[in-house]
Amino acid sequence: MKVDKKWSRPQKYENGHALSSESHQLERVIEFENYPKSILKMPCQGFSIPAWLCKTGGKLRGIKGSVCSKCYALKGRYSFPNVKNAMQRRFDGLKNERWIEAMTVAIGGTEGSGYFRYLDSGDLQSVEMLEKIAQVARNLPHITFWLPTREYGFVAKYIKKNIFFPENLTVRLSSHMLKGEAPISLAQKYGAVASGVSETGFTCPSSSQGNKCLTCRACWSKDVPVVIYKQH
Ligand code: SF4
Repeated sequence: MKVDKKWSRPQKYENGHALSSESHQLERVIEFENYPKSILKMPCQGFSIPAWLCKTGGKLRGIKGSVCSKCYALKGRYSFPNVKNAMQRRFDGLKNERWIEAMTVAIGGTEGSGYFRYLDSGDLQSVEMLEKIAQVARNLPHITFWLPTREYGFVAKYIKKNIFFPENLTVRLSSHMLKGEAPISLAQKYGAVASGVSETGFTCPSSSQGNKCLTCRACWSKDVPVVIYKQH
């Protein structure tokens, strides 16, 4: 991981434990995407893994009319060798037993926006991955996390075991089909929110503002039950 010159480590986590002196070594565990704010859409950093390894997405890809049949994360800049290699390294890093600590240090030390986005490419690989993401959110209560996913099954298993998500982690269930209804009831059942087609949803304004979020943070908000996106 490349560390920004402005690197400054948080002094303590929520649980009051000071960072270990060897924390800087954790930088090698993960690889961070630092979105150039003037070029890409998001107002913050993110963590993505290969879309070709999506479990549910892999099945949907062959289904006409599914969101995954038009997956933006399998083309364009996502197909550049350096981008693909970086996503693969991030995926490999998920197995590292110090992943939670590494992500906490990396995000806590570099993210000044107060927001963080997971899985611009790729999706949850397991309920264990979701539990790790939730723990990173607990460690960094001053940052709001957005996690979009089509892995409803992992979300159900997480809730069965953990009851609820941290307040600062917004899990947004994405619809499977391009013209499919947003999975609103399912999301409500799990304490999550949704995205997809709905008559009452919030329509993403990015296409009318230079393909950027600018001041909009609807995707991170648990108060926005449905976000409707235009197809990429
Ligand atoms: S709804 Fe708002 S926060 Fe979400 S992607 Fe669109 S502009 Fe960004």
